[in-house]
Amino acid sequence: MERTDFRSVESANAGALYDVTAAERGDNPAIKMGDRTLTHAEFRDRSARFAGGLADLGLEPDDRLLVYVPNCPAFLIAFFGGIRAGTPVSPANPQYRARELEHQLTDSDAKAIITHEQLRDVVAETIDNTGVDPLVITVGEGRPDDISFEDVEGEPICVDREDDDVVTQLYTSGTTGAPKGVLSTHKNLRTQAFAGLGTGVDDPDEERVLVSLPLYHTTGVYHCTWQPLIKGGCIYLRDPAQWDPADAMAAIEEHEISSFNGVTAMFVDMINDESFGDHDLSSLETVGEGGAKMSVTVQETFEAVAGVEMHEGYGLTETSGATHAGNESTFGPRLGTIGQPFRMTDCKIVDDDGNELPPGEEGELLIRGPHVMKGYHNLPEETDAAFDENGYFRTGDIARCDEDNYYEIIDRAKDVIVTAGYNVYPSEVEDLLREHEAVADVAVVGIPDERRNEVPKAFVVPTPTTTVGEDVTAEEITQFALDNLAAYKHPRMVEFMDELPRTASGKVRKIELE
Ligand code: AMP
Repeated sequence: MERTDFRSVESANAGALYDVTAAERGDNPAIKMGDRTLTHAEFRDRSARFAGGLADLGLEPDDRLLVYVPNCPAFLIAFFGGIRAGTPVSPANPQYRARELEHQLTDSDAKAIITHEQLRDVVAETIDNTGVDPLVITVGEGRPDDISFEDVEGEPICVDREDDDVVTQLYTSGTTGAPKGVLSTHKNLRTQAFAGLGTGVDDPDEERVLVSLPLYHTTGVYHCTWQPLIKGGCIYLRDPAQWDPADAMAAIEEHEISSFNGVTAMFVDMINDESFGDHDLSSLETVGEGGAKMSVTVQETFEAVAGVEMHEGYGLTETSGATHAGNESTFGPRLGTIGQPFRMTDCKIVDDDGNELPPGEEGELLIRGPHVMKGYHNLPEETDAAFDENGYFRTGDIARCDEDNYYEIIDRAKDVIVTAGYNVYPSEVEDLLREHEAVADVAVVGIPDERRNEVPKAFVVPTPTTTVGEDVTAEEITQFALDNLAAYKHPRMVEFMDELPRTASGKVRKIELE
């Protein structure tokens, strides 16, 4: 077994790292989905030619490339190709409706949008509503003026970039407000690539990663694909919309999967599936969970039957992926903690005045390191507010660390509901529901849920002329959300009330709503 040696790479473009991987492991499989396999050489070649094709279409370095496709090899070709072309890649959730895509398309000012035939209608509606005019590149059957994904082919390129140039622009709401474009740099991504070399199995040829998480999100794209592909491993790609616990366990057994990362809901589904226990899952060497606090009961049940150790990880879009993981820690995973910070990660816990707190005390977790974003796109004030005077990023998470430097996430200071690994920002759902004619006021909060960690619940104050049950029902409110937002954001419970509890200053006292 030989680890890939990247010391010969001189370019700051993170995509150049992959040339070394492909040169050393060209014949090995890189991506498998359904009947399709791409070797590292084929994937490198296709993404390098895709980069050349983007340049031929007139895209210049720093032009944004919006990628709105479900998990499929085309996503990764666009991702690696965009990196090589120097056109920052901005992936969008394929569950988005036009309303949600509009913000990302206009805010990123994308020169081109890569989409899929299944999503083409949403793109058309988005373009109509915004009046912007990006190039549309379609995977599968497009409209007459579209560029076919297959035709984006040119001379293979990997353009010169600087450490600080933007490489990706993922969207997150961070601690407040509308989704913000997170500017990760080539240095951030190179850092995460090198961090990935030390995770998973030692031998890259034995690294087989089952990817059921969505690629538009940090964990899916940086941790589950970027890192193992640079390392030289193989990705077994699945569409999260087709998630099936029995199929996942059968795939782990059949392909001798070495690494699987999921969210609580996936592990709950597996342990409750009737085939749980029938599959040999012993090939798994790393089983990680993140995105929300892991359930100890679920972890213990999974470990007892699967016979493999699980660990919890932690990270944010703004840190370009993981910053902590139990399996990477000196003493291995510790139940209830996210483990120690990675070597490159500098952390501190501070009180409300920014004073650093000693081990054992709770406060906000702040993070600094070469993987932390350079800021939010076009938002200098929000960027300033996100960092303290020493350049530490404020996570908005309340944490505590012990004497061994193991961290535990206690709570969130920010208003976000994490449901089955997806972030739901209550303000977005509230803004939508206020548009419903029967709604005078509304507050959305997270309610505990065993499978999804939390689910959104809406407390609705009807307008004075509305009679609940006659003019409006809970089902109607739910349907209104389903019609306008990605499905995971809809309130799974709706309660009508006469007024919302408020503080003297008028803020809704969400703590009283459950
Ligand atoms: P995102 O930017 O979508 O990756 O979301 C990052 C946020 O997810 C963090 O700020 C946390 O609030 C939450 N999160 C991620 N991992 C964990 C974890 N292991 N435990 C608790 N919360 C987590």
